[in-house]
Amino acid sequence: MSKKGRSAVITGSNSGIGLGIAWAMAQAGINVYLNSFTDRPEDHRLAAEIADATGVSVSYIKANLANGDECRRLISEAADCDILVNNAGIQHVSPIEEFPTEKWEAVIAINLSSAFHTTAAALPIMKKNGWGRIINISSAHGLTASPYKAAYIAAKHGIVGLTKTIALETAQEEITVNAICPGYVLTPLVEAQIPATMKEYGMGREEVIEKIMLARQPSKQFVKVEEIGGIVNFLCSDAAAQVTGTTISVDGGWTAL
Ligand code: NAD
Repeated sequence: MSKKGRSAVITGSNSGIGLGIAWAMAQAGINVYLNSFTDRPEDHRLAAEIADATGVSVSYIKANLANGDECRRLISEAADCDILVNNAGIQHVSPIEEFPTEKWEAVIAINLSSAFHTTAAALPIMKKNGWGRIINISSAHGLTASPYKAAYIAAKHGIVGLTKTIALETAQEEITVNAICPGYVLTPLVEAQIPATMKEYGMGREEVIEKIMLARQPSKQFVKVEEIGGIVNFLCSDAAAQVTGTTISVDGGWTAL
């Protein structure tokens, strides 16, 4: 029942948290399918780099997860899917009156509906294999709200509800379904925002991080992608066999406030 030798499909995994999860899983001996909507040489090079460094099999599958059929094709193109990590996500920030309908629809499609489609496609494979793990990357914003992020917060709360429902539907099989709720994670995207925020507030790097970016994160430290990878590996371990239908907050105390 060990996770070694299993296969994982990780959506949105050519950067940030998804890529961190891919490295952690590959280092734990899990074969990995990377995904995003692009099909650049560097996407495939990334797969080769992880495979070379870890010795597991790593492939890249292009699929645009804004489209339900593409989500289902992603799962059918993977040779196997013991573990599904629904990680792909986008953000749009705007007051509700000005929130463009197409942005609402894109955020809901990529951050929420994609997990419905990939889960529906992956569950028959997991049931046939007699083992499965579904891990949804929600957010501290799956449990709390902030203004101007209506679509993101609706989607991230929605994925927590989806997690609980699928966990109940699979409770008597060797399949678990859980959501991870990270606080602010230091990804290249977040790192790139630091200089502009320093300029905007006339603050130094440390002050911007503590007072602006991590205002709601009591630890005053970013979560690291490796830490999210470690939690994913824990959820795939035998020790987590009875952990299902729940959320794991990795947020430096955000949701304890
Ligand atoms: P990121 O932008 O680095 O990664 C997002 C990934 O999703 C990328 O690989 C991107 O290519 C992919 N993606 C976007 N649109 C797609 C589409 N249409 N089809 C397929 N793939 C698509 O951002 P990240 O910070 O690593 O975010 C990853 C997940 O973690 C998201 O769901 C995000 O909401 C969640 N999250 C991030 C933070 C944070 O602070 N960074 C905190 C909590 C939750």
